[in-house]
Amino acid sequence: FALAKQHPEPAMFRHRDRLKPNYDAVIIGAGGHGLAAAYYLARDYGMTDIAVLEKGYLGGGNTGRNTTIIRSNYLTPEGVKFYDESLRLWQDLAQDFDLNLFYSTRGHFTLAHTDSAVRTMRWRAEVNKHFGIESELVEPDEIKKACPHMDLTCGGKAPVMGALYHAPGSIARHDAVAWGYGRGADRRGVEIHQQTEVLGIQVESGKVTGVQTTRGNISTPRVLCAVAGFTPRLLQMVGLRSPIYVHPLQAMVSEPMKPWLDPIVVSGSLHVYVSQTARGELVMGASLDPYELHSTRSTLDFVEGLAAHMLELFPFLSHVKVVRQWAGMADMTPDFAPIMGKTAIAGFYLDAGWGTWGFKATPVCGKTMAYTVASDRTHELMTKFSLERFKNYALVGEKGAASVGH
Ligand code: FAD
Repeated sequence: FALAKQHPEPAMFRHRDRLKPNYDAVIIGAGGHGLAAAYYLARDYGMTDIAVLEKGYLGGGNTGRNTTIIRSNYLTPEGVKFYDESLRLWQDLAQDFDLNLFYSTRGHFTLAHTDSAVRTMRWRAEVNKHFGIESELVEPDEIKKACPHMDLTCGGKAPVMGALYHAPGSIARHDAVAWGYGRGADRRGVEIHQQTEVLGIQVESGKVTGVQTTRGNISTPRVLCAVAGFTPRLLQMVGLRSPIYVHPLQAMVSEPMKPWLDPIVVSGSLHVYVSQTARGELVMGASLDPYELHSTRSTLDFVEGLAAHMLELFPFLSHVKVVRQWAGMADMTPDFAPIMGKTAIAGFYLDAGWGTWGFKATPVCGKTMAYTVASDRTHELMTKFSLERFKNYALVGEKGAASVGH
């Protein structure tokens, strides 16, 4: 009792026993994106009568499963501007939350093993520089200096010919990002309801009017859908279609080691990316599983394939143990760019198509979606990301920078 008196506020967020029958807005999905939108709606627009509904637990989707690479060295002007704004927001986030996010700027190498990859890296460097992003093509000796443990010959199979180097490339503690946004939203009055699944969305005369959940019905004029790999199911509830297809994306972590790897290293040709956390674990990922599947099961095939490629780059790791592996459900779009903003249904807003690249965008998605929900106007940074672009053939070709590289 004495402890409770000293700490009347919970460490993170309150448990709410009951849902109210109506809210000003409902956010479906308590991943980073949904929670960030709730946070900025409350903080910047004074909208606090909001329920964030989560079918599992806070941050249990892709937010808590991702490999946390943060960067802005994309290929299209729309992408570069969007991710650059996110990088700017990341800088103050820990202070905003008063919570350590373990945000750590490491530098990011995207290795090129072929002439055509070198050309793409040069192209990206030029686009990036045009928008003021620190990004340059570097020679193998510079890679060796930053990463002396790397075998630049890759066992003779695919020698490294150069790399795109992006100094602001960073990593962060993913759970803490969800907790920080969740706590900040809760403290401003937003209700977070875990174990509450949305089963249906009510639409009348082209307008959202409410949602049906496993804990009862709610009336609301605004629904923000931020459910990553579950987007196709939610869109079915309102009769919308998108070209999103869902593939598993897997990752794994090694036992902790002394710090030896400063930068983040990515190889599109070897389908590998790796960084070392503050705890010393190597966090490793590969490209998507090559089949469409709505599942978060991880496979032996993935570990074997990724380990083999890791050893091509870092042969000295052959005795290091893998301690965990897992998968998330990536909501992929044909052009590797997101789908954001208003939809044909009034009051139904979408934040989706974040595939394998959405963690780094969490702050900017929260900011821009909050603006869009509060004002019912599409934020200028996301005008090119509308669902309509697939009808109008106005795609945002981001594949050259968004694939295995994240
Ligand atoms: P999520 O965190 O998935 O949250 C959606 C939530 O919606 C879930 O918690 C889910 O339970 C809930 N939900 C679904 N349906 C319902 C319903 N009917 N009712 C209520 N709740 C519902 N991105 C990067 O930028 N860098 C990386 O290095 C990176 N690596 C990745 C590695 C892996 C293995 C994976 C899987 C992804 C990676 N990503 C990366 C992508 C990134 O994780 C996602 O794009 C991002 O986390 C999406 O956040 P979100 O909040 O939209 O979705």
